[in-house]
Amino acid sequence: MLIGAHVSTAGGLDKTVGRGVERECDAIQIFHQSPRMWRPTNYTDRDFAGFRTALAASPIESVVIHAVYLVNCASKERDTRSKSIASLSHALRVGDAIGAGGVVLHAGARKGEPHGASMRRAAKAIARALASSEECPVLLENTAGTQGPLGRNFDELADLIDLLDGDRRVGVCIDCCHLLASGYEIRDPEALSAVVDELDAKVGLRRLRCLHVNDSKIPLGGNRDHHANLGEGELGDRGLATFLSEPRFAELPALIETPGPDGHGPDLAEVKTAKRLRKRGIAARKRRGRRSKRTASRR
Ligand SMILES: [Zn+2]
Ligand SMILES: [Zn+2]
Repeated sequence: MLIGAHVSTAGGLDKTVGRGVERECDAIQIFHQSPRMWRPTNYTDRDFAGFRTALAASPIESVVIHAVYLVNCASKERDTRSKSIASLSHALRVGDAIGAGGVVLHAGARKGEPHGASMRRAAKAIARALASSEECPVLLENTAGTQGPLGRNFDELADLIDLLDGDRRVGVCIDCCHLLASGYEIRDPEALSAVVDELDAKVGLRRLRCLHVNDSKIPLGGNRDHHANLGEGELGDRGLATFLSEPRFAELPALIETPGPDGHGPDLAEVKTAKRLRKRGIAARKRRGRRSKRTASRR
């Protein structure tokens, strides 16, 4: 598992690599433009080359981009939709230029509009952004919330993939905070295993390219998206240790996007916490395995 964090792009793309290295990240996630403005950042070929050189010289093995939260591909407003397509296209082209593993996207928010039409609008907009870029995958993230976010469960993610004709460039990103808030119990290995089975059956694990590792201020099924620092929420150390040690997640980048100790995002201590919790989860699974073997041999 490539454990890492979302890092700031302040000061330029190549600065992100240093922030990842300082935090001992094996993977990083970045925004492709300022998250508060529609205006895309105009990167030059030199910016991209600088980033790739810095990344190649670092221990960081994977980078993913997160589309900015202004993007709403499902919007009924033509203006919002065309800005969303432009922003997502930009993210995918930056992804192509820096060799990103994907662009993570919240597929869209209904905001009171009918579900079916919103899904179709979102898929059409995503397809247009894919058509205006080369290779970089779009990774639909599972969501939680009350503004009618699309992708709140695996059926909706699967429906979106169908609406995109199963395009091979469409993958998914699974966020454990959103899973819990949307009603998926994932805090013990058996429960999580059943959830991963469901994901495999409905979406296919080959489409799973990335994980988000956040604790949740919101309880199981509370249906809101509110990240807590690792160990300080409803998942807690035990739930996070379970999620991070799921065997079928072992090869994936796992990115922390918590508020961090001072509200400026995850720090080195939090990356270390995630790595420690993964080890703890693996050890607990081994102990359980030995226990159940002993019980079986006694029978
Ligand atoms: Zn996330
Ligand atoms: Zn979230």
